[in-house]
Amino acid sequence: TFHKSKGQHILKNPLLVDSIVQKAGIKSTDVILEIGPGTGNLTKKLLEAGKMVIAVELDSRMVQELGRRFQGTPFSTRLKIIQGDVLKTDLPYFDICVANIPYQISSPLTFKLLFHQPAFRCAIIMFQKEFAMRLVAQPGDKLYCRLSVNTQLYARVSHLLKVGKNNFRPPPKVDSSVVRIEPRKPRPQVNPKEWDGFIRMCFIRKNKTLSSIFRLKTVLSLLEKNYKTLQALKSSQSSSMGNLDIESDISRLGDFKEDQKMDMDGGTDDEMEVEDDDDDEGDAEGEVSGFKDKVLAVLKEGQFEEKRASKLTQQEFLYLLSLFNKAGIHFS
Ligand code: SAM
Repeated sequence: TFHKSKGQHILKNPLLVDSIVQKAGIKSTDVILEIGPGTGNLTKKLLEAGKMVIAVELDSRMVQELGRRFQGTPFSTRLKIIQGDVLKTDLPYFDICVANIPYQISSPLTFKLLFHQPAFRCAIIMFQKEFAMRLVAQPGDKLYCRLSVNTQLYARVSHLLKVGKNNFRPPPKVDSSVVRIEPRKPRPQVNPKEWDGFIRMCFIRKNKTLSSIFRLKTVLSLLEKNYKTLQALKSSQSSSMGNLDIESDISRLGDFKEDQKMDMDGGTDDEMEVEDDDDDEGDAEGEVSGFKDKVLAVLKEGQFEEKRASKLTQQEFLYLLSLFNKAGIHFS
């Protein structure tokens, strides 16, 4: 019996397992991380291909079954099983990750791997097809969204295989895709909080121009608040920018609940409802509009006024963020 809540769908097609292992490009010296080994169909091939497999499995029955399967074989000394939730486990060193995961942990797991140090060579992971398509989407693609941008900041991502439901037992409701994730080395040196705040803002309405987003009253007043806070901190010489808090970075960047909800509703955009405020006639104080001019001047400097998040590349986002930061405008 399989647990639906643990996303237990066992790969039953041996040709598919072979093709995943082959595409992974495993070396005989590799330490391989497998997440959710289940009954061990993939594990066995990984043991044949690499030096050592570290398998993290939540379900104690599966852990037992896996132990029994390899007991008394030459593989048993090269398999290390860790029982537990992979999201709560301190991952050991590994060269490569190969996994058919439970889909409910897709985004936190992806960001946990992307923040893992030292960076591994690559991860070959089975995802729900819709999630995979968002991961690999490029600027201008319909599915290009925060998930694409945040993942691709830290990794090169490519689509390897389409996998139909009937390759699994029991068959899941959705189709799947195998994706390759290769961490960028060196890691981009951005402040994850700053990056996340900036990207969320740009994608408030991903098909609108940046100048219309950065004229929104809600956006401007948040940015101005940050600006003033930082000015105040600077003058008291106690700036705490750049604090590292990996756990919260992972959960922030991996938080795509809106996206997933949209998927189920059949929507394609991850735009939030924000009150429009295109003209600033009401701002009598002049202070807000002074700040607004400052923000719009940054967009102008980089020629971003008419650009839209849905079409911006990684480099363009990084460049625009650097222009904002240079002007003292921050997103966290
Ligand atoms: N790898 C096997 C295969 O391909 O046949 C099984 C894959 S099945 C989709 C997912 C496996 O992940 C199940 O064995 C399940 O018990 C395990 N699992 C579920 N949640 C987990 C978690 N948070 N941490 C580690 N393993 C988990």
